[in-house]
Amino acid sequence: MASDIEIARAASMQPINEVGEKLGIPPSALENYGKTKAKVRADFIETLKDRPDGKLILVTAINPTPAGEGKTTTTVGLGDGLNRIGKKAAICLREPSLGPCFGMKGGAAGGGHAQVVPMEDINLHFTGDFHAITSAHNLLSALIDNHIYWGNELEIDPRRVVWRRVMDMNDRALRQIVCSLGGVANGFPREAGFDITVASEIMAILCLATDLDDLQRRLGDIIIGYRRDKTAVTARDLNADGAMTVLLKEAMQPNLVQTLENNPAFIHGGPFANIAHGCNSVIATQTALKLADYVVTEAGFGADLGAEKFFDIKCRKAGLEPSAAVIVATIRALKMNGGVKKDELGAENVAAVKQGCANLGRHIDNVKQFGVPVVVAINHFSGDTEAEIAAVKAYATEHGVEAVLCRHWADGSAGTEELARKVVQLVENGGAQFGPLYSDDMPLFEKIQTICRRIYRADDAAADKAVRDQLKKWTEDGFGNLPICMAKTQYSFSTDPNLRGAPTGHIVPIREVRLSAGAGFIVVICGEIMTMPGLPRVPSANHIRLDEAGLIEGLF
Ligand code: ADP
Ligand code: MG
Repeated sequence: MASDIEIARAASMQPINEVGEKLGIPPSALENYGKTKAKVRADFIETLKDRPDGKLILVTAINPTPAGEGKTTTTVGLGDGLNRIGKKAAICLREPSLGPCFGMKGGAAGGGHAQVVPMEDINLHFTGDFHAITSAHNLLSALIDNHIYWGNELEIDPRRVVWRRVMDMNDRALRQIVCSLGGVANGFPREAGFDITVASEIMAILCLATDLDDLQRRLGDIIIGYRRDKTAVTARDLNADGAMTVLLKEAMQPNLVQTLENNPAFIHGGPFANIAHGCNSVIATQTALKLADYVVTEAGFGADLGAEKFFDIKCRKAGLEPSAAVIVATIRALKMNGGVKKDELGAENVAAVKQGCANLGRHIDNVKQFGVPVVVAINHFSGDTEAEIAAVKAYATEHGVEAVLCRHWADGSAGTEELARKVVQLVENGGAQFGPLYSDDMPLFEKIQTICRRIYRADDAAADKAVRDQLKKWTEDGFGNLPICMAKTQYSFSTDPNLRGAPTGHIVPIREVRLSAGAGFIVVICGEIMTMPGLPRVPSANHIRLDEAGLIEGLF
């Protein structure tokens, strides 16, 4: 089979205005970025307010293996499958980060015959949203040091500045830096550092804001640091929120592209799935729901992190009501969850598949706790055997759900017709009764315990006095009603990435808590979380070049 990039280049793309027309978007409502990318104008989105919403379908997955389980690929495949059976469907995805493209080979626009295009643009600069976010973030950074330089009227404690700088590049050299070196004219030296742009709180804010006013309010709420008496200083105190909003005005408008089968795809925003909530923007999802009857969207990582945050943060805050969830499983990942090593995945092993199904079963039960009906999509890999597939189907049936074999990677929408019909059936049965896991007014530590016990099936969460005191302080300061954003390994229900399957009896140690006051959640860190990745010994950048025809070589 051809490579992803070969398939993507062979696609016959339609002009983006024609793609927009499929959803009733007039050309005047599109800001074109070349022929095959556009932003949907905010003034047009405003006119959609009173329309009824379509049905929202979440694509999530079992605990992944290092290869990725194919959530994006399945989101694209299901969107195309729904269109194939005559439904008006759109998909919503996150924008990929630029930095990782030059480290390990691989894009984030789907795979095989289930991709979004123009694939190279989407993976590189796209419509400039990440550059805008980087600029808005670093404007605030510059204003902080400038304020200190000119006399520090707000009495910011330079040792307690928590707002760092960002760049959309994997660059470990910038993780910890000292800034303002070089003498009186350059300010007051202090320790600082860089994160990758997708880890910026502004990314999370852009993805949760409902309009420009809400965006500006949230930007103003950002806590940039603290005074000596530990009171917080916000971006609003620095009068930064207005200028930051100006920089983000275009970036707030969702991007429209197409799938290989010319169906509409919104790709907008891309927050980390650990220290942030890992979903595309609320504005893209809401716009899609006004324009399509079915909207398929993806949440990052496995369902223990991705789906939980999608439901408890995004849906809660935006008032979204998902109608169904698709849990993606692969035979390979089930085998790994059943104890098989990576280099032994090629051989048939029905017993390991059956054992690994415990992981799937728990995700099914977990998603059902939110009142959302489930179907399992088995994302077919060429080495999967009949007996292994039959074992997963039988397990799902025992668990009261259906598992459908999907061949979208090899066959495009022809490979997801059955899944599409099953999803329509689930939605039309009207079985969804969505509700988040915990209420807004539950005390913060109880919220954490609820997630650990009911989703991770841990015995408890453990935190030192310092963490508990911090939560208490935030509650006193009026942040007690915020939802929790868990940051832990995606490979296990526990905090040990090697503990696969469905572990029980574990304790979740809380290492640190952080307040994202603008995004509106409390980040709970359980483990080593990297917010500025590095490049590998031989980065893929070493092999990337333009060929004689001007095409990119070595990127995917
Ligand atoms: P996720 O969204 O879960 O991280 P992706 O959909 O991005 O996963 O897929 C991860 C990688 O696996 C991509 O490079 C994709 O091309 C590949 N992939 C997905 N499904 C299949 C499949 N059925 N067969 C072979 N490769 C696949
Ligand atoms: Mg993905």
